[in-house]
Amino acid sequence: MELADTALNQHAARLRVAILGCTGSIGTQALDVCRQHADRLQVVACSAHSRTEDLVRFAREFSLKRVAVTDPAHADDPILAELPDGCAFYTGPDAALSICLEDDVDCVLVAIVGAAGLAASAAVLSSGKRLALANKESLVVGGDLLMPLARKDQLIPVDSEHSAIFQCYLGEDPRRAHAIWLTCSGGPFYGYTRDQLSHVTVADALAHPTWNMGAKITIDSATLMNKGLERIEAMHLFAVDMDFIQVVIQRQSKIHSMVEYDDGSVIAHLGASDMRIPIQFAFSYPDRWQTPAPRVDFRTIGSLDFAEADADTFRCLALAEQAGRRGGTLPCVLNAANEVAVAAFLAGSCSFTDIDTVVAACMDAHDVQPVQTLEQLSDVDAWARAYARSVLSARR
Ligand code: NAD
Ligand code: MG
Repeated sequence: MELADTALNQHAARLRVAILGCTGSIGTQALDVCRQHADRLQVVACSAHSRTEDLVRFAREFSLKRVAVTDPAHADDPILAELPDGCAFYTGPDAALSICLEDDVDCVLVAIVGAAGLAASAAVLSSGKRLALANKESLVVGGDLLMPLARKDQLIPVDSEHSAIFQCYLGEDPRRAHAIWLTCSGGPFYGYTRDQLSHVTVADALAHPTWNMGAKITIDSATLMNKGLERIEAMHLFAVDMDFIQVVIQRQSKIHSMVEYDDGSVIAHLGASDMRIPIQFAFSYPDRWQTPAPRVDFRTIGSLDFAEADADTFRCLALAEQAGRRGGTLPCVLNAANEVAVAAFLAGSCSFTDIDTVVAACMDAHDVQPVQTLEQLSDVDAWARAYARSVLSARR
């Protein structure tokens, strides 16, 4: 079924957008796209977890109708008194949903980090609005529930690899696809041994070679958990199994992914390493607008390198494969344990290699169930977080 009841099909109207997680890396780049295409995009509502000063600034700049603050500790920040007249303020557990489900929104960008984005992704799909999905954890944890809700062309991936794969499928018969090649930069520790990995610092891990992103995904990119999560994300988005998706290191991050067809033809998506391009595509689809980023001059790239990923050293990649193959509630546990372990690493309270140790311990202790409801996933998520914290404190 096509999306019929929104302004998506009314060419004269601007696409009315809500951005959940507007203060993060994806959120601020999305606002930049909206700035550059103010004739096509209208930002109606935004949420932020804690950076209320930025939220107020954006409310003034974009004349927002509604804003939400999702962290109760920041709901009374004095700066919020400076929200512009006519901008409604929401807080509390359902605040993000309240601002984006109104009739004056056509498309919701879910740029929240972590499993916290799942409820919003589900609600947006149920509402019939377009979901521009950056929050890959939604699909990793709740793909079994989300995909049946998604109508044709309703869910447009923002993750660069998945935007690339989505585009490599355009105009093709998916039944003629033979494999997906999911590209991976390799992260800052490409080529490291396990022993070297155990000594890396937070600063080392935050120095990603090709992408500038939020802290959690930057650590996930260094452990290769990000690629593991993306493989599960791709299984749901493109309705394929784990073996269909091959991970390949592409150090320059210029090939964003590829789809190989039965006849041996491989269609690749190339472009600048700039998230504004896939963000914009999720808004403009099926149209294409002028690029928000500098263009690539291929004469200056030199070479494109490919290599195999090392899942023995980067164990998070193997753990995600195990979770994706087993399915059910295991990916939820993988994700929740990883969120806790990454936060602990960022806080300086565990080592880099403790991250996969904690995730493995939680997965081993979990009794896998088929996914049934969001409430069930929320309970499993809470159990895995508590278990991960107990594993971490036992190691200290
Ligand atoms: P970030 O940490 O920079 O920003 C996260 C945003 O979510 C912030 O606006 C924050 O206020 C909000 N937030 C944090 N915790 C929240 C909670 N509990 N409830 C509601 N809102 C909360 O993260 P990011 O790098 O922008 O990544 C956002 C999502 O996009 C992640 O799922 C990430 O995997 C995905 N993604 C990011 C990139 C990238 O280049 N940054 C690329 C691909 C996919
Ligand atoms: Mg990605």
